[in-house]
Amino acid sequence: MVDDNRIRSIVIVGGGTAGWMAAASFARFLKPLGCRIELVESEEIGTIGVGEATIPPVMDFIRVLGIDENDLIRKTQATFKLGIVFQDWVKQGHSWCHPFGTTGFDIDGVPFHAYWMKEYLAGRAERPEEYNLQAQAAENGKFMRPVQAPNSPLERITYALHFDAILFARYLRGWAETRGVIRTEGRVVDVSLRAENGHVEKLKLDDGRTIEGDLFIDCSGFQGLLIEQALKTGYDSWNKWLPCDRAAAVPVRQTRAPATYTLTKALDAGWQWRIPLQHRTGNGYVYCSEFVSDEQALETLKAHADGEEMNDPLLIRFTTGRRNLFWNKNVVALGLASGFLEPLESTSIHLIQRGIAQLLRLFPDRNFEPADRDTYNRLLGHEFERVRDFLILHYTTNEREDTPFWRHCKTIPQVDSLKERLELFRGYGRILREDSDLFPVQSWLFMYAGQGIKPRRHDPLADTLDPEVVRSTLENIKAVVSSCTKAMPTHQEFIAKNCAV
Ligand code: FAD
Repeated sequence: MVDDNRIRSIVIVGGGTAGWMAAASFARFLKPLGCRIELVESEEIGTIGVGEATIPPVMDFIRVLGIDENDLIRKTQATFKLGIVFQDWVKQGHSWCHPFGTTGFDIDGVPFHAYWMKEYLAGRAERPEEYNLQAQAAENGKFMRPVQAPNSPLERITYALHFDAILFARYLRGWAETRGVIRTEGRVVDVSLRAENGHVEKLKLDDGRTIEGDLFIDCSGFQGLLIEQALKTGYDSWNKWLPCDRAAAVPVRQTRAPATYTLTKALDAGWQWRIPLQHRTGNGYVYCSEFVSDEQALETLKAHADGEEMNDPLLIRFTTGRRNLFWNKNVVALGLASGFLEPLESTSIHLIQRGIAQLLRLFPDRNFEPADRDTYNRLLGHEFERVRDFLILHYTTNEREDTPFWRHCKTIPQVDSLKERLELFRGYGRILREDSDLFPVQSWLFMYAGQGIKPRRHDPLADTLDPEVVRSTLENIKAVVSSCTKAMPTHQEFIAKNCAV
């Protein structure tokens, strides 16, 4: 018998990346259960139009929906991404890569990072990038998808995409609409709450139409039309840890072969991103308004833009942090409506994906059991916090003291969760992954090594291994990575053959 209490209709407010990712996922998982899905968006308001660098889990999102990857790449002018390069973060002229994928392998139960660190501290191993295929391929402009090659890193190539955010939302819109999602054009001008429980009852549009629903998904961007303006959920600012609060963005024409990495370059009062697509390069400067004016920031961005500007610059203000609740009453906020972490590690689209996945796991009925909501809020809260901690490390563990902004970063207070993690590493080079961690052990390893953080002593576990075996293993990993890199086509060749526009 059909459960009478099932959610019968979902209303999504907002048609940016968050709105259409939610609509597409619901079309896949909830439409077949008889749920009506309606998305209301306003073309006049538009979307933020940035958010173009992703991390590997996005490929699962695409595959789960059954989307043809090459078709998506063509229609969103996408390129492949193997990691992120951090330039000038530690000091001017220094750079390191945070690559995707695995690095090396365990020897007799001893993890790579433990035995590599022993050799590195003794000056017998090279930087970790030498042992990671993605890092080497990114450095050499190479790319291919994984192929069957037993015991070779070519089997495990891990990648993500850079895509045009507007085209991505448009692509998902087409996908969702053909699967029955109803799109309504209009501006929401009023939100009615139920007197008995404060839940959202209906939305009023500017032309007088009303939209009712059981569950509302707030994807309305920074303003949080439902979660904040209607439900007054509150916002927890993380500005004391992550001081940047503005961004200027300007795309430039693509003039060279697109890189397979997102570039983030530390500047005087923040950092610049460079995201290569097939037709253009996304460029932006994330900065702290306390240390640079908007005009100066724009000038700096233009000076570093590396190409002919294609649009007028876009200026964006934000407060890093999160809503006190992501799910409040019968409203779940996704995307910018739920919180914001600067795109230093390209995590926002991922957090949308996590929000959708957790919602599907804890999907309510019309009773809206508190346990579903509380669990959702706790899990997503942890995910946001772990990403926040990772971002903070970029600012607090470096040698830069050359501008007031970088000197200010030296005064950023410690976060307890990060303090323990750092102490664990500084002691014996230990890195553990906990359940809510997005970043695997190797991400922390690259971060520590890249930012120049070293433990006082290597992990004693590494002493259980035969030193000769360790040395030859490291040499072997490096040689295999190098020969695999040579065997790969260039990024440009791969795109031209498989998915050029
Ligand atoms: P928006 O794109 O702002 O969409 C809001 C929607 O709500 C629009 O459709 C709008 O029309 C609609 N709307 C608003 N009000 C109303 C109303 N009253 N009535 C009807 N409709 C309404 N993420 C990454 O993963 N990687 C990155 O590299 C990255 N870079 C970023 C750089 C910057 C500077 C910023 C600010 C963000 C970046 N992000 C990045 C985050 C990413 O842009 C967002 O997570 C993503 O675009 C989702 O946006 P959204 O859909 O929540 O909001």
